[in-house]
Amino acid sequence: MVTVRGKDATRGIDNLYRRLHGRLRGQILRDVPLSGYTSFRIGGPADLVVAPKGQEELVLVCQALLEEGCRFTVLGKGSNVLVSDSGYRGVVILLTPGLKRSRIKGEGEVYVESGCLLNRLITWCMAHGLAGMEELSGIPGTLGGAVRMNAGAHGRYMGDVVGSVKVLKLEGEQMVEQELTAEEVGFGYRKSTGIGDGDIIYEVKLKLYNEDKERIRAKREMYLAWKRERQPLNRPSAGSIFLNPPGVSAGEVIERCGLKGAREGDALVSPKHANFIVNAGRATAEEVLRLMKRIKEEVFRREGIKLQEEIKLIGFGEGE
Ligand SMILES: Cc1cc2nc3c(=O)[nH]c(=O)nc-3n(C[C@H](O)[C@H](O)[C@H](O)COP(=O)(O)OP(=O)(O)OC[C@H]3O[C@@H](n4cnc5c(N)ncnc54)[C@H](O)[C@@H]3O)c2cc1C
Repeated sequence: MVTVRGKDATRGIDNLYRRLHGRLRGQILRDVPLSGYTSFRIGGPADLVVAPKGQEELVLVCQALLEEGCRFTVLGKGSNVLVSDSGYRGVVILLTPGLKRSRIKGEGEVYVESGCLLNRLITWCMAHGLAGMEELSGIPGTLGGAVRMNAGAHGRYMGDVVGSVKVLKLEGEQMVEQELTAEEVGFGYRKSTGIGDGDIIYEVKLKLYNEDKERIRAKREMYLAWKRERQPLNRPSAGSIFLNPPGVSAGEVIERCGLKGAREGDALVSPKHANFIVNAGRATAEEVLRLMKRIKEEVFRREGIKLQEEIKLIGFGEGE
């Protein structure tokens, strides 16, 4: 998530802002509350938010960022993250809405920029009679986030349809462009081990197959209805908070421990799905963390199971 540590973080941010402000087609904003960029609606300000428009501008931003020694993190649609109340000291790179183009090349071969919203992509594919991702219908977020998290549902995972992934690797003062095969991406349960915290996914090649549009539509509707029925989609959340322990569902375990409806301030264990914490008003990150700690302790005490977070924490580290 965070890669480059500056000698003088504030000066680096000031310099970066001066270099890029007024020179980008995309956006560059200072001291922006990240609550507006997360599905939890929680999070303090980032020093700088940059949303480059197009791949060339992304490269330009990354070069400047490396030269100024700024630390950074990438955010898709912020649907699987919890940002601290004090925010993030560094640069947040947003790839939506600036990188969202998609094109069909060969038979079932589609190239899509990573800032494209997953649901929009599934609908676009449906319109072209391209199938393979219907099970993922209703999962919020971008394609880049879905690849990084290997998002999945109903036994289908993002990694199943990925042919290759183009990344910018920012290491030390170096930036390298690489195309990783699906094996190199290292897809696992909610992870992609071949993609590091300093890597920015900017384009994905998908392997889909041709299918009747109406059949795709019917499958999509079915999975959307399933999701609406079981998940609290009308309240701000970050989806499932914990990973499923081997062989069991985290939601069922949390429910068995009597924690549905448990509350810390405005952070609430959803009465609809116990692995979702919802923001029931003006929840803070602090309240969500307190509730997560309570759930972990209670589940360990009663079931002997150690739950692990699925969501990514941003801005909680030392000095952030
Ligand atoms: C209501 C709800 C329902 C959900 N249901 C599901 C579900 O059924 N299945 C499921 O798997 N998930 C689910 N989620 C979780 C979430 O939607 C997925 O994990 C999604 O794929 C995250 O995408 P994002 O763009 O929002 O990523 P973000 O939350 O913005 O980021 C997640 C991580 O990916 C990294 N990242 C994002 N984009 C890039 C990029 N381009 N390059 C490199 N790193 C990047 C970020 O740095 C961060 O570490 C749900 C969430 C909500 C709110």
